[in-house]
Amino acid sequence: MSSNGTKLELPASIVIRDLALKIEKSPIDLIKKLMSNGVMATINQTVDFDTAAIVVGEYGFDAVLEAAEEVTKEETGEVPLWRQMIAGENNALLKPRPPVVTILGHVDHGKTSLLDAIRQTEVAAGEAGGITQHIGAYQVEKKGRLITFLDTPGHAAFTQMRARGAQGADIVVLVVAADDGVMPQTREAIAHAKAARVPLMVALNKVDKANANPDRVKQQLAELELVPDDWGGNTMVVPVSAKLKQGIDDLLEGILLVADSNVIKANPGGKVIGTVIEAELDKSKGVMATLLVQNGTLESGDIVVAGTSYGKLRAITDHKGKPIKKAGPSTPVAVMGLSGMPSAGDIFQVVDSEKEARSIVAERAETAKTLSQTKKKVSLEDLFANVQAGEAKGLNLIVKADVQGSLDPIVTELNKLGQGEIGLHILHAETGNIGNNDVMLAAASKAIIIGFNVQADVDGRRLAEKEGVDIRLYEIIYRMTEDIEKALNGMLEPKLVERVLGRAQVLQVFAASKFGRVAGCKCTEGELRRGARVRLYRGADMIYEGDLSSLRHEKDDVKEIRQGYECGVGFKSFNDIAPGDQLVCYIVE
Ligand code: GDP
Repeated sequence: MSSNGTKLELPASIVIRDLALKIEKSPIDLIKKLMSNGVMATINQTVDFDTAAIVVGEYGFDAVLEAAEEVTKEETGEVPLWRQMIAGENNALLKPRPPVVTILGHVDHGKTSLLDAIRQTEVAAGEAGGITQHIGAYQVEKKGRLITFLDTPGHAAFTQMRARGAQGADIVVLVVAADDGVMPQTREAIAHAKAARVPLMVALNKVDKANANPDRVKQQLAELELVPDDWGGNTMVVPVSAKLKQGIDDLLEGILLVADSNVIKANPGGKVIGTVIEAELDKSKGVMATLLVQNGTLESGDIVVAGTSYGKLRAITDHKGKPIKKAGPSTPVAVMGLSGMPSAGDIFQVVDSEKEARSIVAERAETAKTLSQTKKKVSLEDLFANVQAGEAKGLNLIVKADVQGSLDPIVTELNKLGQGEIGLHILHAETGNIGNNDVMLAAASKAIIIGFNVQADVDGRRLAEKEGVDIRLYEIIYRMTEDIEKALNGMLEPKLVERVLGRAQVLQVFAASKFGRVAGCKCTEGELRRGARVRLYRGADMIYEGDLSSLRHEKDDVKEIRQGYECGVGFKSFNDIAPGDQLVCYIVE
C-alpha cells in the first residue's frame, strides 16, 4: 500500500458512495480501483475495512479503524458505559492502555493455578519483596508493557459483571486442560466471550501430563469455530503448564499480540470512569474496594460514586499494597473511603462534589426501584417492534435440547431462518435443562432461551422471572421454527402467553374409579387450578400434557389448591403416574 501518511479513519464497513465522499473522489473511479483489486461492487454496496483500506491506500491514505466503530460493532448485549465514554472521547486524546484480561474455563482446568503462575513469574522477575495482596486483579510486565489480569473467582463473576453492563475485559484467555478437552463450562465461556464480543485466545494447560492430547483439543476447538492459528485459523492456542510454570512467557507474548490487533485505548486525561471489581468490609478500615480504572486518572482525594455508595478516597494502593497517588486507565487499585458497599460490576465515576455524589446516589436508588418494578423484558413477541424501533439488531438465542440428536437439526434450522434481514445469533447451544447459567447469559446479552424437550430448573426459573428473561419451551421442532419465523416477520401474534400458576409433587398414587388413577400431590409453589393446563415431568422428561380435570382436597372437589396443601389430581385418560413426578400447572392467556 503506498502512503503519504495522511491518516483516514474508517468504520468497520462502509458504503462505496460514502467512501468516495470521504476521500473526495468519484465513485466510478473508486469502483474501477476496486475492480482492479478483484472486488466487484456497485455504488450502494458495502465493503469491509480491510478492502476499503487497500483502495484508499492507492490514493495515498493510511486507513485506521475508527475506535468508536470498534465499540458500536458490539451487537449483542449492551455496550458498557465506560466503552461508550471512551468512544465519545476525542480520538486524538486516546492513548494505548494495558489490555485487561480475564481467564475463563471449565472447573479444575487450571484457572487459579495459571493466575498464580503468572503472578509468580513477575515476582521472580525481580519485583520480589512487594507484598502481593489479593485484591481481585493484578498487573504484570512483559517486554516493558503492562497486562492487567482480573483475578476474580471464575466466570460467574464475569457473567455477573456483563449482566450489569460492566464488562471489564478486553481479552478472554480460555483455559482448556489438554488431558480433558472441551467441557460444558468451556463452551459456556466461549459463549460469554462471543456474546460480549471480546477476543478470545486459548491456554492449552496441563501439557505436562502423560495423557495430555493437545491435537484432540485443537480438533474440538476447531469444531467450535475456534480454528487454532497453527492450523491456519485465527485463534491463538498457547500450550502451557501452570504447574511447571512452562509456557507462561509465550502466553504473555500472545496476549500482547492479541492486544495489538485490537483497539485498546483510553484518555488518561478524560473523565474518570471504571468498574468495581470487588468490595469487602474491614472492621478497622471500613469499606475496602478494588476498582479498575478504565478511562481518566483516579487520584487520592477524588470524590467517587460507585453504584449506590460514594465517598472521598482516603487512600489508594496498588495491587502490591503500595500507596500510590494516581492510577491511569487499566490500573486496578484498592481504595478506602466509600460510605457503603458497592457490588462487583458496579460502574464508578469521579464527581465534583459530595453534594453531586449524594444526588446521583439518591437518583440511582430511585431508578433501581422503578426498574425492578418495570423490568424490560425481551420477548419473542416484542422482537419485531424492537428491531423496527432500532433498539435491537437481531435476535439472540440460547438453545437447550434434551439430546445432541435434536440439538443439531434445531441449530441448522435456526441458522437457516437467520439469513434474512433480521439476524439470529445463537450464543450458546447445549444439551441439558435450563439452569441459572443459561439465564444469566441470556440476561446479560438480551437473549431468549429456547428449550426443546427440556425444562427450566427451579433456580433458573426464579432468576428468569427476576431478570425478565423469556424462556420458550417446545416439543416439536416445526412449532419452534414457525414461532421464530413469525417473529422475524413481525407476524407473531402476541396473544397467547403461557403463565405458570403453580407446581406440585406427586407423593402417592391411588386407584379411583371415575378418573382411573389419582395422584396424591403436595402443591410446592403457587397454586393448582381445576380446568387449567398441566404438564407432568418424570425427571427431565415430560410424560403428559393436558387438562387438570379433577382436583380434590381430602374428599371434596375444589377449584384450587394453594402452596403447602395436599390434594388429589386426576388427568383425563392418563394413568401412568408415579411418586416423584413433578406437575406444572399453567394457563394460556
Ligand atoms: P480451576 O478450578 O480452573 O481454578 O483449577 P485449579 O487451578 O484449581 O487446578 C485444578 C487442579 O489441576 C489442581 O489440582 C492443580 O494442581 C492441577 N493443575 C493445574 N494446572 C496444572 C498443570 O499445568 N499440570 C498439571 N499436571 N496439573 C495442573
